[in-house]
Amino acid sequence: MTGSQRSGDARELAEWDHRHVWHPFTPMQGWLEEEPLLIERGEGCFLIDVHGNRYLDGVSSLWVTVHGHRHPKMDAAIRAQLDRIAHTTFLGLSHPGAAELARRLIEMAPGELSRVFFSENGAAAVEVALKMAYGYWRNLGQERPRFVRLENAYHGDTIGAVSVGGIERFHETFRPLLFATEPLPSPYCYRCPLGKEMPGCDLACADALEEVLTRNEGAVAAIIVEPLVQGAAGILTSPDGHLKRLEQIARRHDVLLIVDEVATGFGRTGKMWACEHEGVEPDLLCAAKGITGGYLPLSATLATERIFEAFLAAPEEHKTLYHGHSYSANPLCCAAALANLDIFEDEDTLEGMQGKIVLLSQELAALQDHPHVGEVRQRGFMVGIEIVRDRDSQSSFDFSEQMGVEVVKEARRRGVIVRPLGDVIVLMPPLAISEAEISTLVRVVATSLDVVLAARG
Ligand SMILES: *Cc1c(COP(=O)(O)O)cnc(C)c1O
Repeated sequence: MTGSQRSGDARELAEWDHRHVWHPFTPMQGWLEEEPLLIERGEGCFLIDVHGNRYLDGVSSLWVTVHGHRHPKMDAAIRAQLDRIAHTTFLGLSHPGAAELARRLIEMAPGELSRVFFSENGAAAVEVALKMAYGYWRNLGQERPRFVRLENAYHGDTIGAVSVGGIERFHETFRPLLFATEPLPSPYCYRCPLGKEMPGCDLACADALEEVLTRNEGAVAAIIVEPLVQGAAGILTSPDGHLKRLEQIARRHDVLLIVDEVATGFGRTGKMWACEHEGVEPDLLCAAKGITGGYLPLSATLATERIFEAFLAAPEEHKTLYHGHSYSANPLCCAAALANLDIFEDEDTLEGMQGKIVLLSQELAALQDHPHVGEVRQRGFMVGIEIVRDRDSQSSFDFSEQMGVEVVKEARRRGVIVRPLGDVIVLMPPLAISEAEISTLVRVVATSLDVVLAARG
């Protein structure tokens, strides 16, 4: 094991983690009471720990892995770039990888997007989109400081991104630090915020935008939305036409549409972009997670020429977009992103996943009648299984019971890594997952549900 040769043994490493590391989104008190799982290697859709145990990566290493771990073409592209240069600044200089990547992203982007701004993570891509939207109107001489967001939205963890977020548990703590926004009801059909019955859905939650924009006429810069799937809230799949309806209302009021494709982009919903399912043409698009195939941190904010042109002026007119990062458009990240796109073409990834999406649905059907499964939601390779105490009343387990966490722990004992979002078990396999692995993934999660819930009686 290379890790052991270089430093401590597994026991020491665990100790160092417990003594010095603060993990993201992690209740650290509980973390310190348990042995940390240290992943040392990867292979295809598997993660391998410091003891050599193998685990199926059922969440694509938090929604990023596309073609699997250690893909030879991905590895080779990054090594080749390393032989040229690891990093050169993007402030005042450019480099071949970024120029080519920008061209290729624009070629494949929906609608009229024509400009790419690079940063390092999804939250930053969102911050940039918010600044571009606000700056666009300001440069045209209009003061429009307001943004419309959705309840249950997640756009990242920096303060601007949290301001347009809507997940109570994550975001309420910070509310006093945030700028004011106008919320819209979340398209959470299983627990419809407007109390409507599903087959008769009239998209009233989207139509609420009409009232909000009328009330704030001339003051709203943009509406930001996760297209088709509100991911972090528990894979909440929007009803058909919801996104299109938002686009139409925004257009009528001349308000910009920002789509946050950080989770849904790069094939996750079965098409390259979620927008494509409804022929939506955004003014701004945020991409991150899958952009480098899950290898390195990179993100991009794509804008239309109309927005870009509003920032063109002599320096003394102060219309410049003052935003940037030390590692903006890092060349290793760009090389990984280019290899990612090459593999999409070479391996016909999107075509190849269509049958696997159907298989995934078929496997999930076994869970539909489970007495403690309230709803199974799926869009392509994004799946949320909502666990409930009681199906009829849709009542949830008490937060202190940590049902989602318990199911995930059981799955790990059975060689599968998944993550809960509250009591929703998320499955988000790499696009490269095999049919046999899909069956294993769903069956292990189903068994884990049974084991944990049987123990509760
Ligand atoms: C993960 C996510 C983000 C944040 O991306 P980071 O790279 O973690 O900052 C933003 N928006 C959506 C929809 C996401 O799923």
